Amino acid sequence: MHTAFVALGSNLDQPEEKVRHGIAALAGLPQSRLAAASSLYRSAPVGAPGQPDYINAVAQLFSELAPQPLLAALLAIESRFGRERSFRNAPRTLDLDLLLYDLQCVDEPGLTVPHPRMHLRAFVLAPLLELAPDCVIPGVGPAADQLTRCKDQNVIRTAP
Ligand code: ADP
Ligand code: MG
Repeated sequence: MHTAFVALGSNLDQPEEKVRHGIAALAGLPQSRLAAASSLYRSAPVGAPGQPDYINAVAQLFSELAPQPLLAALLAIESRFGRERSFRNAPRTLDLDLLLYDLQCVDEPGLTVPHPRMHLRAFVLAPLLELAPDCVIPGVGPAADQLTRCKDQNVIRTAP
């Protein structure tokens, strides 16, 4: 079994529902088990004023899927959610990012792990640290140290 952390984010069309349903979808992944899910967090969109706030969370999975099949399964969930009330050029209503996969570093076409921007994003680090306070991001360092460097980003825990 491998341990993976997945970030969920949504800022469209009842985002809290989307994230909760996304967590439920992760629980249904094949050869995998949902180990834990963080609280929900609210954050202002980065570099896109005027958009609704994001709802974010992180889930911990135990999985026998290798990184690429796991990412493919995540993208399949994304597109399943994106097809709800679909219209031309509809924005995705749920973003799923594979943050960490054990302590492995993966750099393949279409998949980089650890997620290359996770250490810059308080809306990822705060829920991740809720689940794994001692988390170390390979190639970066302790996640807690990174969060202290993102203190200017406004992230609020909204719901258990
Ligand atoms: P963001 O990085 O802001 O979440 P997107 O969700 O639009 O951007 O990026 C999706 C693409 O990023 C996917 O097609 C996927 O192949 C690629 N990708 C590379 N590494 C990862 C990862 N660790 N998690 C999720 N997607 C990744
Ligand atoms: Mg993504």
